[in-house]
Amino acid sequence: MKYNLKFSFKLRGKLPADAPEKIKEWLAELKQMLEKGIQENDIKEISVVKKWKIIPVSKKEDEFVLNVTSGRALPPHQALLRMRKFFSGKFGKEFRVGISSVDIKSYKIDVDIPKKPEKEFTLPFVSSIKFDENIAKVTLAKDIPIDFIEKGAIDRIVKLVKNKIVEEVIRGKDEHHLVIWSSVQKKAFTKENPTDLMIKEGWIQRTNYRNQWILGPAITTFTEALKKIIEDNLYKPLRFKNMIFPKVVPWDVWKKSGHLSGIYQGGFEPYFVCTPKTADPTYWEDIADYYRITLDVEPEKIMEKLRPPIGGLSFAQCPPFWSYIQGKTISDDSFPIFVYDWSGPTYRYESGAAHGFERVDELHRIETLYIGFPDQIKKVAQDLRIGFRKIIGDILDLEYREAWVTPWWTAQEGSTEEDSQQIEIKNFDQIGTLDMEIYMPYRGSRETSYWLETQNVSILGTKYTKSFTVKSQTGKELWSGCGGGSFERFISGFIAQKGTDPKNWPEKVLKYIDEIPSGPTFL
Ligand code: ATP
Ligand code: MG
Ligand code: ZN
Repeated sequence: MKYNLKFSFKLRGKLPADAPEKIKEWLAELKQMLEKGIQENDIKEISVVKKWKIIPVSKKEDEFVLNVTSGRALPPHQALLRMRKFFSGKFGKEFRVGISSVDIKSYKIDVDIPKKPEKEFTLPFVSSIKFDENIAKVTLAKDIPIDFIEKGAIDRIVKLVKNKIVEEVIRGKDEHHLVIWSSVQKKAFTKENPTDLMIKEGWIQRTNYRNQWILGPAITTFTEALKKIIEDNLYKPLRFKNMIFPKVVPWDVWKKSGHLSGIYQGGFEPYFVCTPKTADPTYWEDIADYYRITLDVEPEKIMEKLRPPIGGLSFAQCPPFWSYIQGKTISDDSFPIFVYDWSGPTYRYESGAAHGFERVDELHRIETLYIGFPDQIKKVAQDLRIGFRKIIGDILDLEYREAWVTPWWTAQEGSTEEDSQQIEIKNFDQIGTLDMEIYMPYRGSRETSYWLETQNVSILGTKYTKSFTVKSQTGKELWSGCGGGSFERFISGFIAQKGTDPKNWPEKVLKYIDEIPSGPTFL
């Protein structure tokens, strides 16, 4: 790491003739001040004033220009804040001259990187980045405001340069998916695409909007049976409580949940929500009149009357829950908090063409959420895993497997290699995500085809409890975890192996269905 910052203190007056003499003395004092509290082997790495001069800006004002360089410790942008305090004290006391502002003239940072990226990139607030084998030469944009530095943005730029390269490696290797367990092979009753099968039965019907579906009475009955199965085998025995989570999510929640770092980067593709600039009827009258005459809308005209998005529609389902306990201190005996939500759809702007019922933009999901002390979370994660195994493998009687995954955007710096080595995970007791994937015979052989991710169970550690500042009464560390599985996926997986003829369905499922209602006959 090498930092090179040129900046100036703009002064509210002229410095006297003896100022350079004094400044020389003060620089020695400043050096000692900066070295205070720095570890022995870091002393050589900290900020040093390389050059300085006093420049007259006008007849009444001077500018004190400095060039500061450093290695990895106490870089110039951090030293600058201490120097401002130091010199405003000295100049004020000695010369009765105050510092009016700080002017960043240029900032070049050589960032150590693990390797040259395949795809070069630039960043906001940066004017250029040149990549060598192990160094990224970053030149920051001119006129960086001082509060940008005060708020820690420079350190985040440096971190982001490194992280983008680490993420490229992880994404490229696709190492974040590892099959850790497979069920026995099971007989499939069909090799057809489940979406086609259900359309043929009149159980589901596509709408005019993207990949949206209407679930008819038959498939809704099946969904209700699934709910009951999950309640009886999981939520009741494990004492989970039902809740209703909000489905419109403001930016603030996605800032805290960390989702915004990955927006449209391959893991978070939200629908945005806009509100009108005003609800005043006169403001909207032309839109209404236009429609009454043409019987059509002009979405662009509506766009002009909207405020920028306030956030979006619920994407991952659990983040908006956290406003419930955000900033609270909670009695120890309240833990573990075990809840679930299936109160409404969540939304994802899935890319590409239509994917059928398996990958929809409007999905109906069961979100399971658990907050407690680390031991409670480890135990419930394993309990949920066993419960879902029972539901998918025993009751629904499906062929499926478990995979250990780390989404690339949550991967920590430097953790690219080791994570994928943990093959035997008998007990789910560490931070990470376990996916349950159902074999889809219509897609091809077991070995080469893409299995359908249907349910996951995660341990998230302190990620959410910290960012939403949730505390336990005794200050003991709090963990959380969550799991999601959509009805669309459970149903697609089930129909893909069992078909639509209930006589091939397991008795343990039929027990939950009195009768499959028929829909209208469309002529
Ligand atoms: P995939 O890689 O298949 O897109 P994902 O990793 O995006 O899945 P998660 O973000 O882990 O899925 O979401 C949790 C659960 O939500 C999934 O296990 C699945 O049951 C469901 N799900 C996610 N996206 C969809 C979708 N587009 N349609 C239906 N269900 C979905
Ligand atoms: Mg996805
Ligand atoms: Zn979740």
